[in-house]
Amino acid sequence: AVGKEILTWYEGTWHDGAAPIISSADHAAWLGSTVFDGARQFEGARPDLDLHSARIIRSAETMGMIPPVDAATVQGLMEEGCARFGADRSLYLRPMMWSRDSAPGIIDVEPENTGFAICIEALDMPAPGGFSLTVSPFCRPRPDMAVTEAKAGALYANNARIMADARKRGFSNALSLDVDGFVAETASTNVFMVRDGVVFTPVPNGMFLNGITRQRVIALLRADGIEVVETSLTLDDFDTAEEIFVTGNIAKVMPVARYKDREMGTPRMGMRARELYWDYALSGGETVAALRKTAGLV
Ligand code: PMP
Repeated sequence: AVGKEILTWYEGTWHDGAAPIISSADHAAWLGSTVFDGARQFEGARPDLDLHSARIIRSAETMGMIPPVDAATVQGLMEEGCARFGADRSLYLRPMMWSRDSAPGIIDVEPENTGFAICIEALDMPAPGGFSLTVSPFCRPRPDMAVTEAKAGALYANNARIMADARKRGFSNALSLDVDGFVAETASTNVFMVRDGVVFTPVPNGMFLNGITRQRVIALLRADGIEVVETSLTLDDFDTAEEIFVTGNIAKVMPVARYKDREMGTPRMGMRARELYWDYALSGGETVAALRKTAGLV
């Protein structure tokens, strides 16, 4: 279902509502050549909008497309769209690029023939609480099996079945493993666990998205004096975790209330990470510098 309030940038103008941006001749419609990103406006803040704008450019280039606009233009347009809604609104900002018209049998993309659109829609920030996680039977592909370095729509066919399977079993989301059997991420977020006051998270290995929120939360926790270890983690590690939380651009930091059949305790670290993120976002990024100074980091 399309959100009630949505604004679409396409071919040089803002359109009210969803716009028919992809044609029946587009490569993207037949062969899944879309890349996208997601960012937020909430409580007047748009944290790391520059990084999300830069990432869609990299994603498009990874897929062999030549982006028709640069990162600064993507960012500027997203800011313009936000201004149309108002700074007090909770919004989800989604830029997309895709490969346009091609002929039957043409598998490779035409680099110069790249479409660009932005959708901005009203979306409340989910409150923490009640988020549940199971383990998915479906794995993450290796970089030599799929374009895992891009935030590509085509990868999300697998994520959609991870999510559908989790929901069918009564969970909000699921952990998926990489092909070596280590925990990778969920269908839409990165994942962290806590043991003895130390935070652990999978080390980037090309088999999951090294999320912008993930990297931000790691930096914020470390600047706050909390030890964060990036390493290979197994399901046994998660079975004995005191706490689990996930990060992603939609909800930022979300504590896991139930993991498999286990009710998790009070999410102390999850809520601390959330608080640090909000402080960072609402201070326009100044908190990081201040925290780093206090922690004796540069
Ligand atoms: N993993 C997957 C599969 C995702 O879809 C997302 C959301 N983009 C993330 C992780 C989190 O990444 P980010 O913090 O950059 O949004």
